[in-house]
Amino acid sequence: AKREGGNRVRLFQQEMGEQALARQRDKTDLRTAIETGQLVVHYQPIVDLATGAVTSAEALVRWQRPGTGLLGPDAFIGLAEETGLIVPLGEKVLESACDQAVRWHAEGRSLGVTVNVSTRELSNSGFLPRLERVLATTGLQPGRLTIEVTESVWADEPAMRSLVAVRDAGIRVALDDFGTGYSSLSYLQRYPFDIVKVDSSFTRALGNNGRTEGVIRCIIALADVLGAKTVAEGIETPQQADWLRAAGCSYAQGYLFGKPTEAASWDTRTSVAFPS
Ligand code: C2E
Ligand code: CA
Ligand code: CA
Ligand code: CA
Repeated sequence: AKREGGNRVRLFQQEMGEQALARQRDKTDLRTAIETGQLVVHYQPIVDLATGAVTSAEALVRWQRPGTGLLGPDAFIGLAEETGLIVPLGEKVLESACDQAVRWHAEGRSLGVTVNVSTRELSNSGFLPRLERVLATTGLQPGRLTIEVTESVWADEPAMRSLVAVRDAGIRVALDDFGTGYSSLSYLQRYPFDIVKVDSSFTRALGNNGRTEGVIRCIIALADVLGAKTVAEGIETPQQADWLRAAGCSYAQGYLFGKPTEAASWDTRTSVAFPS
């Protein structure tokens, strides 16, 4: 029995070693990906629920990994955050997104762009200078850019300071996945946000029971009191869009209006017709 235990330990160590190696390989590959342009940014439309106008686009990163295919962010953002590669990765996404917004503007399309920023990126002291450099080199007006952060920023003081500075620079700030993290009303009132994004888990639960409806109404009312707009995420059905519009939600995003796509195949419609 003792011997068996020893074997198990060795097997365990071997597996650990293999995992560490695989991780090291992924890290090296991700660094190469960032440096050699294997990252691609897809854009998803955000529409004004009152008018159907497409007002902005959310930048969502993907990795065209050789031999593997197109990977979604859930496959590599975690690793990027743990290894610090999120800093150069985020800079690439920001550059692409700002550049794209300027191109759209040049084509006569007035679209804002919204970019996801990890708390880890935001807490890096170079964040604001990089952001300002990207705005300067691309020529994007700060008011056309929104950065999306999650409730985890509240637990990180340097990130919070950075966020305040970002907002002072005229860039809009959105609170992503609202209601799924550690929401704090005290932080919400202390640090102003321009946009509150209602997480798709709420949208998905619409119609299941009256409680979801009540909670969404409360989020919209809360955002209103704080002077913020609301964006509902994950809209897949006309019924969800109708309900959210009637409830006073400002904007919506989801497969009903458009999936994330490359800028090259971006839908050229400037507004969507509501199905009902
Ligand atoms: P998120 O910011 O909450 O983005 C919304 C996610 O929902 C996206 O997944 C989008 O493709 C998906 N989605 C949009 N509409 C619908 C819908 O109607 N139905 C369903 N089922 N899904 C919908 P994606 O692109 O896989 O991104 C996952 C997460 O990765 C994002 O969640 C965001 O947290 C993170 N992420 C993406 N790009 C970046 C980035 O450049 N930097 C950082 N730090 N994080 C990023
Ligand atoms: Ca987001
Ligand atoms: Ca979200
Ligand atoms: Ca999310």
